[in-house]
Amino acid sequence: EAQTGGVRDVAVVGSGLSGSLMAVLLAKRGYRVQVFERRPDPRVRGGDHGRSINLGLSQRGITALRHAGLLDRVLAHAAPMRGRVVHLPDGGLGYHPYGTTDDQILRSVLRHDLNVVLLDAAEAAGVALHFGARLVDLDKGDPAVTLRFEDGTVVEADTVIGADGAFSTVRARMQRGEPADYHQEFLPWGYKELSIAAGAVGDQRTDPEALHVWPADGGLVVAHPNADRSLTGTIFLPLTGPDSFDTLRTPDAVRALVTERFPDLTDLVPDVVAQFLSQPTGHLVTVRTAPWHWRGRVVLLGDACHAVYPFYGQGMNSAFEDCVILDGCLDRNPGDHGAAFAEYQAIRKADTDVLADLSAANFVELRDRLASPLFLARKKADLALNRLLGRRWVPLYTMISHTTTPYAEALRLSRRQNTTLAWLAGAAATGAAAAGTLLLRRLSRQGK
Ligand code: FAD
Repeated sequence: EAQTGGVRDVAVVGSGLSGSLMAVLLAKRGYRVQVFERRPDPRVRGGDHGRSINLGLSQRGITALRHAGLLDRVLAHAAPMRGRVVHLPDGGLGYHPYGTTDDQILRSVLRHDLNVVLLDAAEAAGVALHFGARLVDLDKGDPAVTLRFEDGTVVEADTVIGADGAFSTVRARMQRGEPADYHQEFLPWGYKELSIAAGAVGDQRTDPEALHVWPADGGLVVAHPNADRSLTGTIFLPLTGPDSFDTLRTPDAVRALVTERFPDLTDLVPDVVAQFLSQPTGHLVTVRTAPWHWRGRVVLLGDACHAVYPFYGQGMNSAFEDCVILDGCLDRNPGDHGAAFAEYQAIRKADTDVLADLSAANFVELRDRLASPLFLARKKADLALNRLLGRRWVPLYTMISHTTTPYAEALRLSRRQNTTLAWLAGAAATGAAAAGTLLLRRLSRQGK
């Protein structure tokens, strides 16, 4: 009771990734937790798994799942990704390992499998799950918040967790009448999913232990492996204009684009045209907002407070990290949810703002730069320096994906390294012998 400050009933809205993980953590803390999800239970829908997409799980997500005691159960469904296979527009292939050590690998897991593990764990922890329950309104009240659902059901809760995604109803209702900031930005590109069947054993073009990227002029395909060696791909294209989802509406037009931009896909996905024309087009949104909480009664998690473009593979990972950070804030502020939620936003918002910028910048990197020899040489140099200097030289990508260094701190460290690199290049050009000594001193200071 002292731990929860008299708060017993917590309503979590959304049983996606962050909602179901947070429900587990709150139940372990002794709250009475109910989860309300607008979709049907993904565990009882037969073969229809909803969104088939698979996600790249990296260190932040792995750490969060370990924190909840669920990592092994998730990894049982995951495929390791040890590096990136780049399918070049001229038909050539490149391979970039992710890091310099074995633990620097990503894991690909189907959203459905992950969600099922989390929902089972929530139920086992005593959480009551309600599916087909779409929240349509929320009345802020102290001490009780009232939730209204589409079917007319009304529920009261001491605390509400808004884990209902980028277009969060909890956020909209919580911020109504408050001095709140809200910024939503759509990428002028969208996406469709593509299934890529398992290739022959040893065929690097379908390497089941790698992330696959097809960078192209005006297009991008990214594919994650599945445990059965098939790949789930996502094709990103402009929404409007020439060669866009808007104009590519005939088999001839689609075939011509794929053959020209992603030559080996025509071979790897014989029915690429049929898939393309039958799949819906998804949109991509960045959301920045504040506040994330209201009077210790309502708090937001994941995409509801910081949706980002998927190009750094961090949306789910950061949503999971939110759960651990909020759990830590509840620990440090026993019985005081107002203080816990305020601390959570204070710790977290600056980091997720940086993540939004990095995710937008990585779109350009994946699309335009992966095919550039100069850029690839820089990437290789980064990894070589990391091998040589260890913790004193950690590439930004490595800090974001393979560590839990806060996002803003990772960016700050990376900028410092870049300044040092520019300085080193300058020193090399002027041939200043003493520069080497100074550089080493500087690097050894950084390592402390
Ligand atoms: P969600 O998982 O979206 O869950 C929200 C839930 O709330 C849903 O189940 C929804 O049905 C429910 N809901 C919504 N409104 C209501 C309502 N009114 N009432 C009741 N329930 C409601 N992230 C990664 O880390 N790695 C990746 O590789 C990656 N790849 C991606 C690729 C693509 C193409 C996209 C689009 C995203 C990708 N992401 C990735 C991002 C990731 O999917 C999201 O960041 C993550 O799902 C956010 O989790 P969440 O719990 O905040 O929201």
